[in-house]
Amino acid sequence: MKLPSANPDVVIVGAGTSGLSAAKKLKKNGFSVVVLEAKAFVGGRCITDKSTFRTPFDIGGSWLHSAVINPLARLAEENGISLHKKSWDWTWVYSNGTLLTPQQVKEYGKYHTSMWLAANQAGAETLDQSVEKTLPQSPWKKLVKNLIAPMLSADPDVTSSADVYQYADAEGDWLLDGGLGTFIRNLHSDVNVVVNCPVSKVNYSGKGVKIETPIGSINAKYVILTVSTSVLAAEHIKFTPQLPKWKLEAINLLPTGVLNKIGLEFDPGWQEAHQGESVNYLVGESDFCTINFGFYDTNLAVGFVAGRFAEQLEKEGVGAATNFCIEGVKAVFGNNVTKYIQKTTETAWKGNLHTLGSYSYALPGAKDARLKLSATLGNRLFFAGEATMLNAQATVHGAYLSGIRAAEEITAINN
Ligand SMILES: Cc1cc2nc3c(=O)[nH]c(=O)nc-3n(C[C@H](O)[C@H](O)[C@H](O)COP(=O)(O)OP(=O)(O)OC[C@H]3O[C@@H](n4cnc5c(N)ncnc54)[C@H](O)[C@@H]3O)c2cc1C
Repeated sequence: MKLPSANPDVVIVGAGTSGLSAAKKLKKNGFSVVVLEAKAFVGGRCITDKSTFRTPFDIGGSWLHSAVINPLARLAEENGISLHKKSWDWTWVYSNGTLLTPQQVKEYGKYHTSMWLAANQAGAETLDQSVEKTLPQSPWKKLVKNLIAPMLSADPDVTSSADVYQYADAEGDWLLDGGLGTFIRNLHSDVNVVVNCPVSKVNYSGKGVKIETPIGSINAKYVILTVSTSVLAAEHIKFTPQLPKWKLEAINLLPTGVLNKIGLEFDPGWQEAHQGESVNYLVGESDFCTINFGFYDTNLAVGFVAGRFAEQLEKEGVGAATNFCIEGVKAVFGNNVTKYIQKTTETAWKGNLHTLGSYSYALPGAKDARLKLSATLGNRLFFAGEATMLNAQATVHGAYLSGIRAAEEITAINN
């Protein structure tokens, strides 16, 4: 692949959801755009694997969260995509050798509701403290708090209650037939991307910007950076002049946490668990996974591990996360169940060189960091990506909206 020779108005670094939506909007507004992507494919953290299972498997984002206020949900509806709106309940909770009774599962759910309420309430107050500090005292606390990391991608002691409060939560978590990655890709099929093209340097010391890659350099008036906060923190891209201290602080206050997925495809003849049912499985204090059955109303189950435990499993090597989930399935359905598991796969987002994690979380005290991260430098360097969103952070729709925001910022300074 060659770099386009003409100097574009805008270079976009990264072809995930935010880079794609920025490019589409800029093109519509009359700008010339070049999108540079480090990987061999577009989509970033929102891609669908169509080859492993009979059912498409989203390796990254899959749910349209807060569906009633999610612009992508409206677009999916307009495009006539079939949507799966059923939510998952806790059906089986297996904690350290004991399967909870239905009454205990109800208590588990009740504490879960009160736990998020308390984190939100504390977050609304001026003092930004860790989610851990906001947890109501209860015999359920130790067990149920394990549900925090799969949402925030990090454990309660390192996540900010103010960031939880700032997220605009609304009803509905919907899945799309064909996968969310497929939908995002199709939505942006008119955007050209130079793949296998990692940007190594951005020089914004002059009037415009100069971007360097292994296949040459390119000059533009503006650049939009969409890479994850951990990629910025790891300095995969060198800036001239260096990013200001306040920007670096914001980046470091918003690390990219870990949520890994484990796909388990069951024999269609196995009918013991269905769409909307799940297993929660705990060993010790915090070795925890959730397994949701019946994705897209098929025999695909998806397990989730998160936070420090997910990092530990990634370090243990390929198969460790899958084995843990299978232990959870065995604990509930008996050892015989393994003969019905036909195929498995697992993600390793921490080790993914071009994202270094799954999605951003905010450290306690990082209340203002997302606004600072999104701030433009010198009217040339623009920042998009899920982590730059105050109310839709850590999501695909947040990434989508952040790209449009950056495109509109550039459009505004040209009007
Ligand atoms: C396991 C998992 C489950 C998730 N589940 C959900 C969910 O159900 N619902 C939801 O809404 N969200 C979910 N998310 C979050 C969602 O996927 C992300 O927030 C969103 O996709 C991020 O998009 P982005 O454009 O900000 O970043 P990215 O998609 O990461 O795009 C940035 C791009 O920049 C590229 N890049 C990196 N370095 C360079 C470089 N030097 N030069 C050029 N390109 C570079 C990367 O390869 C990448 O393609 C999930 C994420 C994961 C990982």
